[in-house]
Amino acid sequence: MPELPEIEACRRNIEPYLINQVIDYAVVRNLSLRWPISKEILNIRNQFIFSIKRRAKYLLIQLQHGWIIIHFGMSGRLMLLNQYEYPQKHDHIDIFMKNKIILRYTDQRRFGACLWVDNLSTHFLFKHLGLEPLSEEFNSQYLVNKLNLKKTSIKQSIMNNKIVVGIGNIYANESLFATGILPSRCSMHLSRKEIQLLVKNIKLILLNAIEEGGTTLRNFLQSDGKPGGFANKLKVYGRAKKPCLECGALIIKEKYKGRSSYWCQECQS
Ligand SMILES: [Zn+2]
Repeated sequence: MPELPEIEACRRNIEPYLINQVIDYAVVRNLSLRWPISKEILNIRNQFIFSIKRRAKYLLIQLQHGWIIIHFGMSGRLMLLNQYEYPQKHDHIDIFMKNKIILRYTDQRRFGACLWVDNLSTHFLFKHLGLEPLSEEFNSQYLVNKLNLKKTSIKQSIMNNKIVVGIGNIYANESLFATGILPSRCSMHLSRKEIQLLVKNIKLILLNAIEEGGTTLRNFLQSDGKPGGFANKLKVYGRAKKPCLECGALIIKEKYKGRSSYWCQECQS
């Protein structure tokens, strides 16, 4: 499943080709993604593209009138074509630009979404979202306040969208390893110092992964949802029973509520 860094890398890659461009027309071949594709997508002719943004794991295309929201679900990806290629079975949407570039949305498993809305701030998808992890507002004081009296595990807390968005399982495991904190630690028992370091590591790891996604994925979101070039840099995620890169102890994996936690018993406490 694409996580925040892959989507941000994709955003950065497509932005220069789409910003200030004018849409010619859109073709929708399959209306049934996770939610039906907004029919308004067909009415975006001649609309100017103001900006390409991201909020949590949603890619947002700001038009003269309204926004296109793209969610990649499990297997969605965007491709930029500079000449028409005959669509394959899972190529559901094409948006043709006047500059001849085509933005193509492909989604094999169809858990993604493509919606048009006139107002983002009041939309049900965005109303209850927490802070962006790379924003200034997401700092240790904010997290100290949020974790105060919280009895859930620290891993669940940093993956909680109402606190901070876009930290999926991979990056939660990696940030906790980098900070030396066990995923199962009770949120309210973390020290201020640990929270400071955790916030710093979350930002560093996400930025690093965005860079890697940007350099290896170019105009594509990888279809298997793996974290692009960052895959080689993962220290615990997906490394069960392999030696810890810091101390040599074997990495432990445990499944909880369908999500796997990975940690090193020696480096994390
Ligand atoms: Zn270790």
